[in-house]
Amino acid sequence: MTILSSHSQPADPQPSKRSPRSSVSSVEGETLLRPQATPDEGNNRNEESIRPQHLEDYIGQTDLKEVLHIAIQAAKSRQESLDHLLLYGPPGLGKTTISLILASEMGVNCKVTSAPALERPRDIVGLLVSLQPGDILFIDEIHRLSRMTEELLYPAMEDFRLDITIGKGQSAKIRSLSLPPFTLVGATTKAGALTSPLRDRFGLVQRLRFYEPPELSQIIVRTAAILKTSLTPEAALEIARRARGTPRIANRLLKRVRDFAQVKHSGIVTEAIAKAALELFNVDPCGLDWTDRRLLTVMIEHYNGGPVGLETIAAATGEDAETIEEVYEPYLLQIGYLSRTPRGRVATASAWKHLGYQPPENQLSWLS
Ligand code: ADP
Repeated sequence: MTILSSHSQPADPQPSKRSPRSSVSSVEGETLLRPQATPDEGNNRNEESIRPQHLEDYIGQTDLKEVLHIAIQAAKSRQESLDHLLLYGPPGLGKTTISLILASEMGVNCKVTSAPALERPRDIVGLLVSLQPGDILFIDEIHRLSRMTEELLYPAMEDFRLDITIGKGQSAKIRSLSLPPFTLVGATTKAGALTSPLRDRFGLVQRLRFYEPPELSQIIVRTAAILKTSLTPEAALEIARRARGTPRIANRLLKRVRDFAQVKHSGIVTEAIAKAALELFNVDPCGLDWTDRRLLTVMIEHYNGGPVGLETIAAATGEDAETIEEVYEPYLLQIGYLSRTPRGRVATASAWKHLGYQPPENQLSWLS
């Protein structure tokens, strides 16, 4: 694998103020529950050792695995490269991992980069000309490609051809270079933000969904074995429940629990030790972080639970509307604490109860 640039993003640069009713308050808790890789996780060799290498080690996402298994077998039997693949879904669910698994299953290299690292046309040109036949090029955050880079990709994806403009103005000429067949794997958190010419050039478009606690629990048990940490199945499930449906968070929480167990106790990680550690790190039993709680609290206290528009929530909480939509809302929607209605966002009765408020009568009847 070649990692050309880390797909990680920095931890939240905006530490927010503490809400009076919030029990999850530390920046520590907030960072622990962020789905993006920390700079350390993005470049760390240990992280690579816990990443599944083969499709059979990749837990959950059964439908996606079936589709990929068929695509791999078909491409191998025709001795062709795989179709271009677009993966979409929230961060930390295993998109980069899938790309690396595809490369190892196909016996080819995978080059990993992200759209912000491909700002200049020569960045993508350099990458494309360095590919070997069948190689996989993984571009994270593909919805953020610049227009010129994207236009260079169209003939490259369709005909394995690179059209380079040489010179300027009237004397400009287009030179075409042929490229080896390759597979582009694009990853995005926002499938809707892709231009349709780019989206249409992907043969396969697949969504990754949040993981259920039993699946996350399997991932935790697998990672614990790699890290040579003993833990009980109950401890694994306790960590899984608080991991926001996200393997990256599950593995991160496991490492913190392991450190806690090593310092405060000795031997096996039990459910009680896992609970004590996660409480110490301010990880909510449902995996809510400080910002989730604040968003819901503001909706409940200031707007009687909604409906309230996204921009209004953003202004009232000081969070960025795009971050709310991409990072926080998917999990809150998934666990049924938030609902999107034509008139705006609504905090459901479950959210009211979880935060210790009594939901209004009319809400109980239509949103539970
Ligand atoms: P994304 O690219 O979607 O942000 P990654 O592929 O980097 O996410 O996955 C984050 C971490 O979670 C990886 O280091 C990997 O170890 C782990 N992981 C993701 N999906 C799975 C899975 N299905 N089974 C086991 N581990 C997984």
